[in-house]
Amino acid sequence: MYIVLLGAPGAGKGTQASRMAEQIGLAHVASGDLFREALSNRTELGLLAKSYMDRGALVPDEVTIRMIFERVALPDCAKGVILDGFPRTIAQAEALDRTLAGQGKNIDLVLYIKVSEDELLSRLGGRWLCRRCQAPYHIKSAPPKVAGVCDVCGGELYQRTDDSMETARNRLVVYFDQTAPLIEYYQTKGKLVEVDGEQEIEAVTRELVDVVRARQVQK
Ligand SMILES: [Zn+2]
Repeated sequence: MYIVLLGAPGAGKGTQASRMAEQIGLAHVASGDLFREALSNRTELGLLAKSYMDRGALVPDEVTIRMIFERVALPDCAKGVILDGFPRTIAQAEALDRTLAGQGKNIDLVLYIKVSEDELLSRLGGRWLCRRCQAPYHIKSAPPKVAGVCDVCGGELYQRTDDSMETARNRLVVYFDQTAPLIEYYQTKGKLVEVDGEQEIEAVTRELVDVVRARQVQK
């Protein structure tokens, strides 16, 4: 069973993928981890990918797909795979479909964790840290008792550049430009199931797991 998990940065995709994988016994294949592993193990594909990265070029989709297929051939993937972080673009989705079709397979299910843009912005852009003890805060979900002051040590709170509203907005612009079109791509193919990502983490996992289990029964 091949499952693709879609969701914007801040939607909790990585967290949900590993929770689902654990509960259903599927393998969680995160494309970011694949690159890191292939590079540190200096595999043939890892070195090939590195040769592009060293030139400042994008790693071709075919190379990434070969990396995914190498991973998917391992025994822990026998029951099924949750792809996290790939495909990111329509071109990648088409290349993945072609490769799977060549093996008589296809994507069975695409799960989309839906979170509104306002909520994503507040999740991504709302993180603050204490300058002195590094305690983390969030303007909405874990605010300090006094604005700008650490509850633990009284230190000053600050935002890393990565956590600023501007960086958050930029990340979302890239996502809505490149990855959001995939939602329609898979919807047209009748593979997309949408799950409300603004519920509690446990409730989101439960819904995702239910959808997969229902699909497993049908198969
Ligand atoms: Zn502190």
